[in-house]
Amino acid sequence: MNTSLGTLPGELAGKVVTPGDRRYRMLRSTYTTVGSPAAVVVPESAGDVGAALRIARETGLRVAVRSGGHGLSGSGTNDGGLVIDLSALHRVEVIDRASRLVRVEAGARWAQVAQALAPHGLAISSGDHGNVGVGGIATGGGVGWLVRTYGLTVDHVRAVEVVLPDGTFVRADAEAEPDLLWVMRGAGAGAGIAVAFEIEAMELGDIGYVQLVAAVDPAGETLRRWAEVVREAPRELSTAVMLASRGTSTAAFITAVVSSDSPSTIREAVEPLLGIGDVTAQEAHVAPYTALVPTQHLHANNGQMATATTNGLLTDMTPDAARALATASAGPHPILVQLRSLGGAAHDPDPSATAFAHRHQNTLVVGSAFPPDGRGALATAWGSIDPHADGAYVNFESTPDEATFARAYPGATGTRVTELWQRYDPDGVLRPQWRA
Ligand SMILES: Cc1cc2nc3c(=O)[nH]c(=O)nc-3n(C[C@H](O)[C@H](O)[C@H](O)COP(=O)(O)OP(=O)(O)OC[C@H]3O[C@@H](n4cnc5c(N)ncnc54)[C@H](O)[C@@H]3O)c2cc1C
Repeated sequence: MNTSLGTLPGELAGKVVTPGDRRYRMLRSTYTTVGSPAAVVVPESAGDVGAALRIARETGLRVAVRSGGHGLSGSGTNDGGLVIDLSALHRVEVIDRASRLVRVEAGARWAQVAQALAPHGLAISSGDHGNVGVGGIATGGGVGWLVRTYGLTVDHVRAVEVVLPDGTFVRADAEAEPDLLWVMRGAGAGAGIAVAFEIEAMELGDIGYVQLVAAVDPAGETLRRWAEVVREAPRELSTAVMLASRGTSTAAFITAVVSSDSPSTIREAVEPLLGIGDVTAQEAHVAPYTALVPTQHLHANNGQMATATTNGLLTDMTPDAARALATASAGPHPILVQLRSLGGAAHDPDPSATAFAHRHQNTLVVGSAFPPDGRGALATAWGSIDPHADGAYVNFESTPDEATFARAYPGATGTRVTELWQRYDPDGVLRPQWRA
């Protein structure tokens, strides 16, 4: 097959989409970014991924890897390069129900995973949105609705099927290729293309799902009390908070998820949150986990959500940190601030066990701002939050740079990530552009 990309291998027939193709419009972009790649390859096997990488090597085209296309930096597309879109690799299967071992392909969305596992009484805590892809979360971290019960998604990855930049297929587990398994659990983007993961799921029936709205005082006392309550809470409780400006004041929209269907357990876990301040509305449900990442979340990506986003991890919610959060989310130029409780099972692994080293921080803070001046607004507001942060999560950065690497992969973790990226990808085929 002769094309503008040279002679394509027969196995890729019908799987290479160029700008003249009617499928191109639906494949060129991600959630945050409109792209103009020279071609999008849609592989249907690990062999096809290897063939796509060979095209990139022969043509010299820059590679972008995409699983669900929800990456905030838009690294799942590019202009003039080659996108490897894994969406056709989306199978989910239970390998062994007794040990809860599940095989999930990288192009599946988390709504599809939840849907497939629910009949087996299993779930994998991943993220808060059903359209996010398996590949980005399971190689980066995975701070999900049940993070304090389950830990991060990467904590439960037992094996990864990877196509290395030279086209070699490797199955990495703790016995075979432990270094590759280590780097794929938190810093996978620069080492290889994961085509599937073996993940230990959790037993899960219905969950408790409670929504509260609390007024946030300018000094941030409400936020301090929220952090205190969650820090002392049983592992069944995980919470996510969205701080939304209401003119000169701020409201905290709190979603509390309890990994139990027992009304008394749910009540006991959530009740202390009622005491954090002026709680003005509440709603409680017992629902299946699929209600949190529903298939209604599934949608095509066409660059619809341009956003400037950054994040930081807080060890303690000090009075100064709480005031900075309250200030950033109020006033004339507010940003959207989201808080995610950590702790519980997220603290269990040794910091050196995976490439996600942050095991003592208690809160993930994500700041976002939107066009027309998202970047400027975010930079101004984040300036007062940043001094309180102790590290960052690589997956919530829209414009990562060298400083992001140092915050996401501190100390010995960063040294090992750098060494392994160099070992598995000596020519920098997959290395993030901001790290080139
Ligand atoms: C609406 C929304 C909600 C979110 N909620 C959460 C949340 O609750 N918790 C959380 O932890 N994160 C969350 N995130 C952030 C999320 O973790 C990242 O955006 C993640 O990268 C998305 O994965 P994806 O496969 O959809 O990304 P893609 O855009 O497909 O990929 C982004 C990058 O990840 C790397 N990558 C992707 N797949 C692979 C692979 N198979 N092999 C190797 N590298 C790969 C590549 O560098 C790729 O360019 C959210 C993002 C959005 C937009």
